[in-house]
Amino acid sequence: MNFHVLTLFPEMVMSGLCTSIIGRAMEKGILSLEAVNIRDYTINKHKKVDDYPYGGGAGMLMQAQPVFDAYQAVLEKIHSEGRQGGRVIYLTPQGRTFHQSMAKEFAKEKDLTFLCGHYEGIDERVLEEIVTDYVSIGDYVLTGGELPAMVMIDAISRMVPGVLSNEDSGETESFSNYLLEYPQYSRPEVWRDKRVPKILLSGDHKKVDEWRLEQSIEKTKIQRPDLYEKWAEENQEYFIKKAKREARKRNHMK
Ligand code: SAM
Repeated sequence: MNFHVLTLFPEMVMSGLCTSIIGRAMEKGILSLEAVNIRDYTINKHKKVDDYPYGGGAGMLMQAQPVFDAYQAVLEKIHSEGRQGGRVIYLTPQGRTFHQSMAKEFAKEKDLTFLCGHYEGIDERVLEEIVTDYVSIGDYVLTGGELPAMVMIDAISRMVPGVLSNEDSGETESFSNYLLEYPQYSRPEVWRDKRVPKILLSGDHKKVDEWRLEQSIEKTKIQRPDLYEKWAEENQEYFIKKAKREARKRNHMK
């Protein structure tokens, strides 16, 4: 997977992403990342990239020309390496809200280009020319698209095969099937008088799996009732089996 970020702050993107798991995946060649400085492509002799919006209004707008030319440079590089251009994502509070299944979908691409806005945003005409996807990371307004691009690149990278050391861990995490992940514990067995749940020390993998599923369901029900409802709708047989199990238990006790 090759990430290309069009930004006015390339050092922010590079320093934020070249560490830990993502950094190691880059060293291994599973991922590549380039941050392209839009300012390097302006034809303005004072290196300006923004101007006042027509019709008035607050703030400045990033101009079409430097954004377009910076993207053309990225596109030429991708073509020179024998690939198609790929999707161009504009980070904007006006876009579709980013979530885990989008991360999985984007992880199938070979190249993704992220366009980071600043100030009041970007001249609409260049967006119409180059953008394929408009994505928001939530209903709030940030000063720039760099943090949203970094959030997306991090989440997408984890879904690229080989990035996580244990392929399974991406599949059992929160949101993988509408459920939040179960609580986890590590050593020591007792900490501040709090014990690790006994079942996790039992070595009975079937029972551990059952316990984890129950915990996931409970957690989701309390913390994300919207997700719980979706899960419950698709997993009716879980409730039927559970009711049968409980009926059997009651019969044994009689
Ligand atoms: N005037 C714009 C509007 O009302 O939609 C907001 C511009 S914002 C101050 C500057 C830049 O930050 C945007 O162009 C976008 O790239 C980025 N940005 C801000 N909030 C974002 C969010 N929630 N998700 C993705 N990008 C965001």
